[in-house]
Amino acid sequence: MRKGLLFIISGPSGAGKGTIYNEVLKRRPSLKKSVSVTTRQPRAGEVDGVHYHFRTVDEYRKMIADGGFLETASVYENYYGTPAAPVLKMLDNGDDVMFEIDILGARQIKSRYPDSVSVYIMAPSMQILEKRLRERGTESAQSLSRRLGSALSELKQYKLFDYIVFNDDVKTSADKVLSIIDAEKCKIGVNEDKIQQILKENS
Ligand code: 5GP
Repeated sequence: MRKGLLFIISGPSGAGKGTIYNEVLKRRPSLKKSVSVTTRQPRAGEVDGVHYHFRTVDEYRKMIADGGFLETASVYENYYGTPAAPVLKMLDNGDDVMFEIDILGARQIKSRYPDSVSVYIMAPSMQILEKRLRERGTESAQSLSRRLGSALSELKQYKLFDYIVFNDDVKTSADKVLSIIDAEKCKIGVNEDKIQQILKENS
């Protein structure tokens, strides 16, 4: 069976990547979600095994030593990583998998799986990004300027990504990500086995 495709969603905080990720998953139930492992504390309403697998630093380090991650990164003082086993199983089943990860993780996945498809979600401008972060009200002045600085330094690495979606409206942006997924699934290379099968059946 053809292996599934890997889709990476990344972008700076405040761009809306998490909301778009959830909207895309809601509208395309056949697309599988990768549940990350993290050492950060759960936020109100977050459920272990659903939003993240919440682990201690010691447990996390043991998983690294055991080679349990496809990628791992330290983001804002906490570890975050994609557990290898469930993703490899989904791909082997022929399921397409989507990750929402930071740029360090995106780089690792891209170098390990060059055929993975990466989408960068950005606000339409730095001013809008700043406005969204301010309105979220979760950042101190120091954290706000650090996040804006990270956003610019990430954007300079734009060549790592295959696509960029400027998010000025969640629904339209989710439509665009779904169009990207559909186009990638229609690529000749992705459908070669099926084409060969039809040719063989009719030769
Ligand atoms: P949050 O703590 O707000 O849920 O996520 C913080 C950051 O960690 C976000 O930029 C998110 O994309 C990133 N992140 C979440 N899961 C993973 C993961 O498995 N690997 C990597 N590299 N980053 C992740």
